Order: sequence, then C-alpha cells, then structure tokens
Amino acid sequence: MTSIRRIPYGRQTITQEDINAVVETLRSDFLTQGPKIAEFEEAFASYVGAKYALAVANGTAALHLAALALGVGEGSRVITTPITFVASANCILYCGGTVDFVDVNEKSALLDLDLLEAKLEASRHRYSGIVPVDFAGLPVDLERLRSIADRYGIWILEDACHAPGAAFRSKAGSWERCGSGAWADASIFSFHPVKHIASGEGGMITTNNRALFEKISLLRTHGITRDVALYQNDDMTAEGAWYYEMQELGFNYRMPDILAALGLSQLRRAEEGLARRRAFAKRYDQAFAGSRARPVLPGESQLHAYHLYVVRVENRRSTYERLREKGILAQVHYVPVHLQPYYRRLGFKPGDFPVSEGYYASALSLPMFPGLSDEDVDRVISAVLESA
Ligand SMILES: *Cc1c(COP(=O)(O)O)cnc(C)c1O
Repeated sequence: MTSIRRIPYGRQTITQEDINAVVETLRSDFLTQGPKIAEFEEAFASYVGAKYALAVANGTAALHLAALALGVGEGSRVITTPITFVASANCILYCGGTVDFVDVNEKSALLDLDLLEAKLEASRHRYSGIVPVDFAGLPVDLERLRSIADRYGIWILEDACHAPGAAFRSKAGSWERCGSGAWADASIFSFHPVKHIASGEGGMITTNNRALFEKISLLRTHGITRDVALYQNDDMTAEGAWYYEMQELGFNYRMPDILAALGLSQLRRAEEGLARRRAFAKRYDQAFAGSRARPVLPGESQLHAYHLYVVRVENRRSTYERLREKGILAQVHYVPVHLQPYYRRLGFKPGDFPVSEGYYASALSLPMFPGLSDEDVDRVISAVLESA
C-alpha cells in the first residue's frame, strides 16, 4: 500500500546556504554574544524599515521585554485581541498587569478599531496600552490606531509575528512595513519554524525609540551594563575592567550566534518566500471564489504576508477531518484566548467576544509555506472543494 504524503499547514525551508552559515558560526569563536547578532539585527531593521532591532530568545521573550520597557506593571491595564496566540496576552500578566480584550472585525479577524474606540471612550484613562496583532499576516491599520492611542494616551506594542514583509498604505499613500516603527512604539517578531523566517527559536523587537531600545538592551542581559558612562555606584568609580553593574532586574533572553547566523541566512530569502506565499494565495483565492470555502481577503491598503491562509467554512469539524483523511493537515488559529481555562479563571467566559468566537468556529488554516509544490497546492484545492 502506498501512503499519501502528508502536507502540514506550515513548514520551514532549509537550504545548503543555511547549513553552511550555521556550520561557519559553529567553527567561529562565538556561539553566543558574537558578531552575528548585530549583523542579523541590522539586516532585520533595514528589512522592515526600523531604526533599531534587538534579537532575543523567542517571540514571547520579545513581548515580555517590550512590555516591561513600556512600563507595564501592577495597575497597568492592557488591551489585546482574543484571536491570537496566548503569548500576546500573557506578556502583560508576566509584568503584573491586567489583560482585557476587544472583539475582532468580522471580515478581517483583526482588532475592531470601532469597538476599541468605544471601549476607550467609555472608560476614559483606564488603559495604558494595546497589543494589536497582524493576524495571519494582515496588517492592522496602525495609522488609525496611532491617532486613537494618542487621543487616550496609550502606547502600541505591535505583535507582528505573522507579518514580516507585510505592509500598510498610509493615508498619504506610502507603504509602511509591519515593524517599521512609523506608528507602533515597538513591534515584535518570532523565528519559530512555522513563521516566515526560521531560526529554531528566536525573536526580534523593532522600535524607532532610542530610550526603549536602550531599556530593552539592558533587560535582555540581566539588567547588566558595562558602559562606564552609565555607572550608578558612586563609591566604586575606580574599579578595573572586570567591573559591571546590574541596574535593573533583567533576564537572559539572548539569542545565540548559531541561531542568528541561521536567521540572517533565512532573511536573505525572505522576499522570495513571500512571493511564493502570495502566488499560492492567488491560486487559492481564484479556486475558492464562489465555493463554500470563503477566504479572508486583504483590503486595498493591506499587503498581506500570508503567514496563514485562512478559509471560513460552515462545517469546520468535518472539513478538517476530511482533509486529514486526504493527508492535508489543516490547523485552526486560534482558540480565542479568553476561552482558555487560565483566562476563564480571570473572569472571562463564552459569549464575551461573540465575533471572535464565531470566527473561531468557522476558521481553517490551509497549507501555506514556500516549500509547497504546485502539485501540493492542486491537491489542497481539490480536497477543499470536495470537503467543504
Ligand atoms: C509565534 C507567536 C508568538 C510567540 O513566538 P515564540 O517565538 O513562539 O515565542 C507570539 N505571538 C504570535 C501572534 C505568534 O504567532
């Protein structure tokens, strides 16, 4: 019996160049805290168009450090979307803050900015910040969000894990990449293998704010500085070159050079990967037009990065099972965060965010990654048309 090849929803692509880059770093003087970090950071900052980039251990560490640097602590109340990975909300709790949610827009599954405005208006000055998520690779309208945020004095931490290479067109007509720092105070990315750029584990924070950049740099390595100009201990001014100061309660959230080398090598192929994702999305869009599988389509001001290709179907469970029988391993993104047992214990319950819950009930992420072949895409298309 021949077994059918299984097609996952996402998968990394590793080339010989990637392998060479890792091996070269393994043979170098630095496995960590070496030159590959700054190289990766500079290349990434220029890729998204930001001033500063900081490589960290993973996307969750990026969220945690950015939240800390933005001042989240006891008494901070922060809003995010229920349709995201749990880490977008958890990072606020790590810092002692409180999480609240705003429901998503029915069409885009992104934070509904009308509902957000209404919530902020009804509860004046009670929130400190917002964590919008460029879900699936579709950029949030951060230009509008910035103007809302400024009106209410809140910061924006953009979770752009799904969206390296995605862009939003400003009212003035210029395209801004997710993470460019044009509107968000800070943005974060993940290099988990299902994401666009794979380093195994890894993350990046981008910002145009010098003070935030410095604060995050300090927190990334235990809160320790070796910068003489910044020393605070007046009684230890004559110490030797061994001396360092721990000035904040930081963490070891560093990315090793081995992984930065892989990330850097992958980043060089990012545009190629995006082009393949967009070509597959186009084929899916055309194939599903008028069918029972309804794709989520980008708006005119959104350049989609297609981390996920989501269709909405009436009978999600049976469609999922039938695709599985055909070797197509679709996924569901996401169980709404407020329905997780941990968040229910904080007081959230079914019915709190009905649009998110309805979205969850019908969403299915189809295979979408650069390593798909045209035959794979054909197989997915026929299977979906037969199964939905
Ligand atoms: C993957 C992801 C994260 C967490 O990234 P890790 O690198 O796995 O810690 C956070 N938010 C979103 C939206 C993600 O997709």
